[in-house]
Amino acid sequence: MLMLGIDLGGTDIKFGLVDKSGRLIHKTKYPTHAHLGFEGVMQRVAEFAREVIASHDVAGIGMGVPGPMSSALGIVYEAPNLPGWENVPVRDHLQTLIGLPVVLHNDANAAAYGEFWAGAGRGCSNMVLFSLGTGVGGGLILNGELYSGPDDTAGELGHIPIDYNGPPCNCGSRGCVEAYASATAIRRIVREALAKGVETSIRIPKGEEETFGARLVYEAALAGDAFAKQVLYDVGKALGIAAAAIINILNPERIIYAGAMIGAGEFIFAPLREYARTRSFRRPAQRAQILIAELGADAGIIGAAGLAFQAFGC
Ligand SMILES: [Zn+2]
Repeated sequence: MLMLGIDLGGTDIKFGLVDKSGRLIHKTKYPTHAHLGFEGVMQRVAEFAREVIASHDVAGIGMGVPGPMSSALGIVYEAPNLPGWENVPVRDHLQTLIGLPVVLHNDANAAAYGEFWAGAGRGCSNMVLFSLGTGVGGGLILNGELYSGPDDTAGELGHIPIDYNGPPCNCGSRGCVEAYASATAIRRIVREALAKGVETSIRIPKGEEETFGARLVYEAALAGDAFAKQVLYDVGKALGIAAAAIINILNPERIIYAGAMIGAGEFIFAPLREYARTRSFRRPAQRAQILIAELGADAGIIGAAGLAFQAFGC
């Protein structure tokens, strides 16, 4: 008995067949072709899903979708990277197209559930996942279950405010951890510093002003660049202060970090652990393990399938 996990993104649709123990049996991905709109993309999802399922004993489907949505109603309210997706009945439509039960969740929550079920969160009951990417996303597992709140908006860990006078954030607020610790934030910090003539070996390759990653900063830091080390230290510090808030509020057993940024290793994790510990209460700080995610880009499909196992109880 298997479940199909689907991770729908603006660029790719990922599929994974997962068994009851959380093992990924088979995975594949196809381009989304988001310009086809809701109906066109759903036809692609259904077509590829049928292909992946063929000849396997699949009992249901879990799907992670980007953007504000309702897991209870199975509706996506909007998806910034999927034109035409406004108040669309994704769950019911996919059920009709494929003839299998479908459960729908926010993609960050599905990834958090994946790490909880089959990755770095295995064996604990309370954990949070920070996904460090273009933005900072997250998910909460409380008492062994995904907690997404009545509006599926819980777990927006990127918008923990760490400075009420801080830089503007995409969400409309200020000083959120996302404005310090996302790839977007690092690019802004490096560009501003270079424009001011700060002494550093970092050179942004031509045409990559909006796309260069933390790796550029990490490599400079490895070579001893003081500015690069400071940038990564500040990222770790911001994440550590956000982790301290989580530690005080939720008393989690594990705080897990995913995304390309974790490649910067101790440049980020040393200050992260230090600030998480010194800015929170002693006992929960001792309890909370700070770990690196294990499933990489597969967390979303594995978690979506895990949520299908949970929903359809087999
Ligand atoms: Zn924000």
